[in-house]
Amino acid sequence: MVYLNGNFIAKNQCRISVMDRGFLFGDGIYEVVSVYQGKIFSLNEHLQRLQKSLDSVKIANPHTQKQWLEICNKLLSYAPKGDYSIYFQITRGVGAERKHDFETLTPTVYLQLSKLVLKGKKLLSQGFSAITQEDIRWHRCDIKSTSLLANTLYAQNAKENQVEEVILQRNNIITEGATSNVFILKNNILQTHPTDNNILAGITRDLTLKSADACSLEINESTFNRDDLMSADEVWISSSTREIMPINKIDSQAINNGKIGKYWNCVYDHYQQLKND
Ligand code: PLP
Repeated sequence: MVYLNGNFIAKNQCRISVMDRGFLFGDGIYEVVSVYQGKIFSLNEHLQRLQKSLDSVKIANPHTQKQWLEICNKLLSYAPKGDYSIYFQITRGVGAERKHDFETLTPTVYLQLSKLVLKGKKLLSQGFSAITQEDIRWHRCDIKSTSLLANTLYAQNAKENQVEEVILQRNNIITEGATSNVFILKNNILQTHPTDNNILAGITRDLTLKSADACSLEINESTFNRDDLMSADEVWISSSTREIMPINKIDSQAINNGKIGKYWNCVYDHYQQLKND
C-alpha cells in the first residue's frame, strides 16, 4: 500500500500525469524517515527540514505536521509491525505545458514504505569501504531535491567498485557522502563539514554529534581535506537508514590499519539509546 494525493492504494494502481514536473524536471522535494517497530523516529526534525526544502524551491507545504503524522500512521497501519523507512515525495505538480518556469500548482504527494534492514553492531564492527570522487553536484546540496542524477551515478560507481559509499570532495574539501554525512576523528576531536549549502544537514548527523558529546568527544564543525580523511583515527558515515557506520578502507587504503575505533562503539551505543527514548 502507498499514499498518493489523498488515497491509500496498491503501488501498481498509482498513476501520475506525464506533465508532472517531478517527471519532467525532477522538480520536487523528498524526505526519508525511519520507523522502528512502529515508532516513527525524529519525525518533527524531518518535517522541519522538509519545510525548509519546500520553502527554498517555492512549493507550498500541502499538509500540516498533524496531517503528515496521520498519513504516516495510516500507511503504517497497512503493514505488519517492523522496521521501515518512509519515503515522502512532493513535486510541484502537473503543469499545462512543458516549460521551465512555473505558476502555483497543486503539489503531487507520494509516500511509500520500504523494509528497513539494519546491519546490526556485529556486522557494522567489521567496517566498510568507500572511494573518493569529485563532488559534481549543484551548489544547493542543503535542499533535499528529487533531482538526484549525480547521486545515482555515484551509487552506480559504488556498486561497480563494491564499496559502501562514495565520499565527495569539492575544491579539496570533503563535503559529505553521496547519501550520507562524513565524520573524521583524530586525537579525540570529531570533525564534520559545517551545515551550509554544500551538504545536506543530516538528521542523523545532528544525533551523531549529540551522541559524540555524550561520549565526551570534542566536536569541531569545520572543513577538512582528503589528507585529513586518510590519516584519521576513525571515519564514520551517517544517514537515517544506515545510522552510524564505520569506514575503515578508502580508495583501497586502510584507515588506521583497518581498526574500528573505540569511539564508534560508544557513539553507536548512545545512538541506539536515542532510538528507544
Ligand atoms: N547527505 C546526503 C547527500 C544524503 O542523501 C543523506 C541521506 O539520504 C544524508 C546526508 C543523511 O541525512 P539523514 O541523516 O537526514 O538521513
